[in-house]
Amino acid sequence: MNLEAILDGVRADVSGHIGEGKVADYIPALAKVDPSKFGMAIVTVDGDAFTIGDAAEPFSIQSVSKVFTLTLALGRVGEGLWKRVGREPSGTPFNSIVQLEQEHGIPRNPFINAGAIVVADTLLSGHEPRETLGEVLSFMRHISGDEGIVIDREVARSEQQTGFRNAALANYMFSFSNIHNPVEKTLGVYFHQCALSLSCIQLAKAGLFLANNGKLGGSNHSVVSAERARRINALMLTCGHYDASGDFAFRVGLPGKSGVGGGILAIAPGRAAIAVWSPGLNANGNSATGTRALESLARRTGWSIFG
Ligand code: GLN
Repeated sequence: MNLEAILDGVRADVSGHIGEGKVADYIPALAKVDPSKFGMAIVTVDGDAFTIGDAAEPFSIQSVSKVFTLTLALGRVGEGLWKRVGREPSGTPFNSIVQLEQEHGIPRNPFINAGAIVVADTLLSGHEPRETLGEVLSFMRHISGDEGIVIDREVARSEQQTGFRNAALANYMFSFSNIHNPVEKTLGVYFHQCALSLSCIQLAKAGLFLANNGKLGGSNHSVVSAERARRINALMLTCGHYDASGDFAFRVGLPGKSGVGGGILAIAPGRAAIAVWSPGLNANGNSATGTRALESLARRTGWSIFG
């Protein structure tokens, strides 16, 4: 398969749509991002990389980080994590609070904000926020093979100053004893993980273990077991795009995780990891043109988990 030619085709398919959608402005630092950016990277399980557009430019990965903190948390606490967070799609927006009261402070899944805050809290236990963030950062550098990955402190600060909803979620869950550390510390970890800054190339490399039976690309080194990689992919498919997860599965047919920075990581099991970035979001807070580009890529490659 000529992935270079396929990417040119994808670019042609989306060229009239670059800049569509609305850049997230509830985090002031993200409102400044140029909406006409567009990049895409494919990294295959053989280690080949193909890119178009702004694929080498770092952007704020935001909620895509939740895939990586979930991976770390499962490594730390194992299946016990599922006592504190569910694994069902929520059918509600990423920052919704409504289900938490009825479900006694147990978030539906690890990819809505409430669930990711619980995951951050499990990573924080027994550590100071600085140490937990150091662990997250070294994990990202290790799995991407790139020591240049950093956290954008301006984005983290910006979110900290305006993160009233996340503070509400965390305080509410604390009242049900589902946050075990001081709320400000747990939120500090969460805001900083969301402020991880990666390019499409770095993000596709970081996600490759999920396409490669849990192993690092081009090596036999396991990040997680094959079973765990499959399960993380299952959660990405069912919950990775919040209340638009069904629509993403229908249009793209691959596990995917979005972030309000306009990035999406998609996994074609056994084949490749794909990262796309286009800052304009649709009404569900997912990249509008990024989704369109993945839809085009899936059609052109025939990659789908549905046969
Ligand atoms: N940091 C963002 C928030 O908590 C992440 C949301 C997202 O990317 N969907 O609101």
